[in-house]
Amino acid sequence: MTLSAQTNTTIADIARMVRKHDSFVLCGHVSPDGDCIGSQLALMHALEALGKDVTCLLVRDEPLPGDISFLPGADRMVPACRYEGSAQVFMGLDVPTRERIGDDACAILDCCKMSVTIDHHAVETTMCDLVYVDPDSASASMLVWELVKELCDVPPAHSVLCAYTGLLTDTGGFRYQNSDANAFRAAAELVEAGADASYAAMMAFGSRTLASLKLEALVLDRLQVFAEGNAALSYLTECDLEGLGAEKSDTEPMVDAVRKLEGARVACMLREQAGTVRGSLRAKDDTDVASLARKLGGGGHRAAAGFTLHCAIDKAVDLLREEISALLSENAVR
Ligand code: 5GP
Ligand code: MN
Repeated sequence: MTLSAQTNTTIADIARMVRKHDSFVLCGHVSPDGDCIGSQLALMHALEALGKDVTCLLVRDEPLPGDISFLPGADRMVPACRYEGSAQVFMGLDVPTRERIGDDACAILDCCKMSVTIDHHAVETTMCDLVYVDPDSASASMLVWELVKELCDVPPAHSVLCAYTGLLTDTGGFRYQNSDANAFRAAAELVEAGADASYAAMMAFGSRTLASLKLEALVLDRLQVFAEGNAALSYLTECDLEGLGAEKSDTEPMVDAVRKLEGARVACMLREQAGTVRGSLRAKDDTDVASLARKLGGGGHRAAAGFTLHCAIDKAVDLLREEISALLSENAVR
């Protein structure tokens, strides 16, 4: 564990602060994933077991990705623009900065008397009073699990399943580089505490809509391989989604399909969205794709990062081919 320079508290101190307060809002990031939703819901169930008043916020008023909507409590999440409460404490989970929680959640944060970040993204800025950031942690939900154990003698079953699912999804089913011994130790603890590993895996990875599978066929058909086979890229347009009646959430698994190409060290998936292009980058070796994402105005982790471009999809494809080729030639031989 290497806590980031901004860390100014401990899990035990966060637990002490939590016990002293009654009402909480828990917030994750825009384009929520299994770790951010799993972290929020794991903590919500633990706080509710202690009799606290808790609301989990969605940054945008959009449906949850289908693969995580099975999590208990997911149906009770409230879009930040519709929140009418006045919680004492704001907790940002799996999200480090104001730009990743959007204006509505920022306004809620500004009204709370106390704020806490629990996260695993390495960034230089902070948005909360108490900050606990461990960039070596495979998931934010692993850190939330530490807090849940501190708060509850017997962690609620729903907390356990949600924390496990966050870890499962942020490690890509324990296949990514962040699947280290601590991740497996936390997974073992969570399974011992009652997490149903095969159920979580089936719901998170083994249950895709027909539209999502058909989109994947398109993505693979369009796969571009470049940088001497070291990189793979594909894309989806808004027309593709409309044609198949697909939702944005149906596109989540696509970057993993691209990443599977043998020999590809870097994978990129681009998706047209309301006049912008959302990009996802993944690295299979120690190439730092977060540095490229930051250069393009986004961010993320070394091996998994994202960004938004304000240009046409064909321009985005050209730009990413160029930038990824340059990135790979900087770190030529491994
Ligand atoms: P994904 O490709 O799954 O959307 O994101 C991969 C990782 O990069 C996640 O950890 C996510 O939090 C981070 N990420 C994605 N897009 C952005 C962005 O626009 N800005 C920042 N700072 N991080 C991002
Ligand atoms: Mn995460």
